[in-house]
Amino acid sequence: MTTGVDGPGRPVLPPILRGQKALVTGANSGIGKATAIALGQAGADVVVNYVSGRETADEVVREIESFGVRAYPHEADVSQEDQVVAMVARMVEEFGTIDIMVANAGLQRDAALTEMSLAQWQKVLDVNLTGQFLCAREAAKEFKRRGVVPEVSRSAGKIVCMSSVHQIIPWAGHVNYAASKGGVLMLMQTLAQELAPDRIRVNAVAPGAIRTPINRDAWATPEAEADLLGLIPYRRVGDPVDIADAVTVLVSDLMDYVVGTTIYVDGGMTLFPGFATGG
Ligand code: NAD
Repeated sequence: MTTGVDGPGRPVLPPILRGQKALVTGANSGIGKATAIALGQAGADVVVNYVSGRETADEVVREIESFGVRAYPHEADVSQEDQVVAMVARMVEEFGTIDIMVANAGLQRDAALTEMSLAQWQKVLDVNLTGQFLCAREAAKEFKRRGVVPEVSRSAGKIVCMSSVHQIIPWAGHVNYAASKGGVLMLMQTLAQELAPDRIRVNAVAPGAIRTPINRDAWATPEAEADLLGLIPYRRVGDPVDIADAVTVLVSDLMDYVVGTTIYVDGGMTLFPGFATGG
């Protein structure tokens, strides 16, 4: 069957997350969807958060259930404190606990600085940065309460912040987005430092250009895709499964000693490709 994470040459994931409970925000589209499915394929039970589009969330749930693990959809806006608190509380009730929080939900509201409204600025900061703070906080409370259960995982919990190459690459015309992801970098590192003594691992994954609805304009026409490939030394646009697989391995015990790091999954976009032929 097609799993939504199948791809040419992709090895089948072994059940490296068996018995773990994961929550993925923004899990009914793009990177979040592929990540939720990959975590399920690796043996985790998964909460599929969405803010709108119940039908697509239900499809993701069905695909995860096809691996013989549990899943359910949960509607919540990650920028709303009461909704995030209720989402994690329900998960603890239904699944018993949480082991993995993937704070993935994000959006863009692009405009040149002089055209950007305060509402555009605030919306992106609220979802991309405050949303990650709220999700990390609620997950960490449960990780600390429960502590390490060695039969399940070597750590008490894992938080993955979905960042972007724009946590370090400035991006004209997208100051709200770049500022939010720059904030995610320091959020992640500070939480990693604060929570490591509790055996909680906080890391980030920073995608480059991945084919999803968020950046359709950048790859939807052959001309746009050719321009984009000029920024990618590996000369292919990424697929959601590229990110999903990196997250899956990162939250597994194979990566137990990885704490406070950003894994760039970007085909080399952060290698200053403009300098490849001189400079
Ligand atoms: P996408 O638009 O396909 O998915 C974003 C998801 O977030 C959607 O499910 C959307 O409904 C959800 N969402 C938006 N606001 C929300 C809210 N308030 N509460 C809960 N969910 C909300 O885009 P994507 O490319 O899959 O993006 C996922 C993450 O990856 C984002 O954080 C994005 O910044 C990051 N990212 C994407 C790329 C890329 O090239 N696609 C590159 C770098 C980083």
